[in-house]
Amino acid sequence: MADLRDILILGSGPAGHTAALYTARANLRPLVLEGEPSSTSDQPGGQLMLTTDVENYPGFVDGVQGPELMAIFKEQATRFGAEYLTVKATDVDLSTRPFTVRAQDQEYSGRAVIVATGARSLMLGLESERRLLGYGLSTCATCDGFFHRGEQIAVVGGGDSAVEEALFLTRFADKVTVVHRRDALRASKIMQERAFKNDKIEFRWDSVVEEVLGDTKVSGVRLRHVKSEKISDLPVTGLFVAIGHAPNTDLFRGQLDLDDAGYIRTTDGTRTNIEGVFACGDVQDHIYRQAITAAGSGCMAAIDAERWLEAQPQTPTNW
Ligand code: NAP
Repeated sequence: MADLRDILILGSGPAGHTAALYTARANLRPLVLEGEPSSTSDQPGGQLMLTTDVENYPGFVDGVQGPELMAIFKEQATRFGAEYLTVKATDVDLSTRPFTVRAQDQEYSGRAVIVATGARSLMLGLESERRLLGYGLSTCATCDGFFHRGEQIAVVGGGDSAVEEALFLTRFADKVTVVHRRDALRASKIMQERAFKNDKIEFRWDSVVEEVLGDTKVSGVRLRHVKSEKISDLPVTGLFVAIGHAPNTDLFRGQLDLDDAGYIRTTDGTRTNIEGVFACGDVQDHIYRQAITAAGSGCMAAIDAERWLEAQPQTPTNW
């Protein structure tokens, strides 16, 4: 039988690290399956590994780099005994206790599980987009809008996220061009009206981004008009990709209750539909999506799990 832990934590963004810190300080010997290096958000450290400057995480007067922030989180949790494995969970069985998680042909066993696998921004899939992510190309206006004071920038997408980001960005930018692949927005009517009324927002309809221009930072976008096939370059210093998000919940489908968009449903704090399984961070939050809110909910999951474990019979043989 696999080594039985009090707590298994899946994921190592702000939520997973914070859950690890709190459960380690409660002497619960957490084992964190932190994910594997990849170019997407399910890598160790999560979405912050794809950002550069973070200026809105409290406590860092001069800001901090996303990867550095995650390294500090991990170091702090490790200091109190949290153990990390650089593996990606490939299978979970939450139907019986103790719960089991498999990764790289190894099985891990936990009396309680905290799911902190995060979410990922959907991306256009361009090589130039990958290269310039964090260098003028962003998926979070709240995080990065401030860097574009007085500039001309673009937002890709036609849903509520894109329109909301565009409206927010007008606080900083001189002009925001919304690039949408069709000639009508998907966003709600009220959001559309706000965008149409805003003098700083322009639209490029029926247009797709063919390439993000710039060597070391964004200098423009190459657009293709899908009806005329005409190619044109739009000079911008920032590009915000807002074509939707997807939670990393494939592993839990059929076991945990998910909402229509695939996010884990939590009630009464961070509890899922399975007793002893808790969820925190972006995997259960499609509204706030901030490092600080994810960290806060990681703390909540740790406290919920600790209290739940305390209320359980002490001997594992009782499972
Ligand atoms: P969404 O509603 O799925 O919209 C995604 C947009 O991106 C669509 O306009 C889509 O174009 C476009 N798109 C998708 N893939 C693309 C690609 N590869 N290239 C170019 N464009 C692409 O996603 P969302 O805007 O993130 O919203 C998700 C949910 O959250 C929605 O239910 C929304 O109402 C809600 N939400 C609400 C608020 C609010 O109320 N304040 C704010 C944000 C989100 P098509 O239109 O052609 O499909």
